[in-house]
Amino acid sequence: MTVNVETSSLASQPLPLVLDEPMPDTQVTFNEADSALTNAAQFHEFIQCHKGQLKTYVPEYLELDKIIFQNQDVIQVDVLAHVPVNNITLPIPQLVIGNPDTSKTTLIITAAIHGVERIGTQALLAWLQSLVQRYRWDGLWRSQFEEEVAIVILPMVNPVGMYLNTRANGNGVDINRHAPIEAEDPVPFLLGGQRISKRLPWYRGKKGASIQMEFQVLQQVIERFTQPDKPVLALDIHSGFGFRDQLWIPYAFRRQPISDVPVYMALKILWERNYPNHNYKFEPQSTAYLSHGDVWDYFHRQCQQQNKLLLPLTLEMGSWNWVKKRPIQILSFSGLFHPTVPHRHARVLRQHLGLMDFLLAATRNFDQWKPQGDQWYAMEQVALSMWYQD
Ligand SMILES: [Zn+2]
Repeated sequence: MTVNVETSSLASQPLPLVLDEPMPDTQVTFNEADSALTNAAQFHEFIQCHKGQLKTYVPEYLELDKIIFQNQDVIQVDVLAHVPVNNITLPIPQLVIGNPDTSKTTLIITAAIHGVERIGTQALLAWLQSLVQRYRWDGLWRSQFEEEVAIVILPMVNPVGMYLNTRANGNGVDINRHAPIEAEDPVPFLLGGQRISKRLPWYRGKKGASIQMEFQVLQQVIERFTQPDKPVLALDIHSGFGFRDQLWIPYAFRRQPISDVPVYMALKILWERNYPNHNYKFEPQSTAYLSHGDVWDYFHRQCQQQNKLLLPLTLEMGSWNWVKKRPIQILSFSGLFHPTVPHRHARVLRQHLGLMDFLLAATRNFDQWKPQGDQWYAMEQVALSMWYQD
């Protein structure tokens, strides 16, 4: 098979975005003054005010609030938007550690783009808890946030989906099929994204209709925290596909290698040298399936056009294993995405801590391992033969 790597690299000419339609201008205002819950104190007040309801439907808010409240000197909180469901309006919080405006590098971590995959939020909060604890007693750990690296966390991108136990948002739209980017090859029926009906899964939204709030929030965050000449790594946490935990590099919209494939291969090798007994399958998402509307495909290409380096990774926790070990889980929709047995749940919460610590260190030390000169070519060759051969 002949493979064309996109010839562009970071410093290359901008590529045209693969847009199926221009993004319509929608009039969505973030944090309107009359409903503003924009900082930690107001976030805390909201959680306390709706404690009973949130405990039932989105208990992750309570856990998050506890972490924020106990670490107000470390974590800066902003509420980026509010989304209504039933009689309540749920905030989409953003947490920042360090200063992303002045830091040399930034790590962005997002979870629960698919609401029902709440185990992602829980694993992320488990890591956040350990991170802020260490911040208190490890001076070296703390000092990295002075100028080297900053962390931006969106622990619950789609809180309405969490509330309703659905993959989609409150309008039935799957945010990770919603980006204006079309797959270049046939995608699996439904799974690859569809515009037939919001009653079916993987609904992309109506063509040309307004952009969903959760997508706008992501876009705002990417635009805000990426800058030319500053590497930004991103990890988006999901669950539900496959028997094994997988780390996916873009793309989902095409089988051709991403232009940054040498960087991803260097990261994979770095990871495997440091964690030789890890159990992740690290490969392009296109090896699993293609889809339309992948948000990270879209953001990567958008950044590339602006000469900004965004390196997204998707962690897909292989939940089929949890179902295999406990088939009764298949009877509950959320059980397909979530380990329901306590010891398995605890194991999932601890099993990704090392990965997130590693990604933070890799982001901070990007200059130490990014392939340069001949290494670039070598990494590219390894990647092509490992990932892109038939
Ligand atoms: Zn997902």
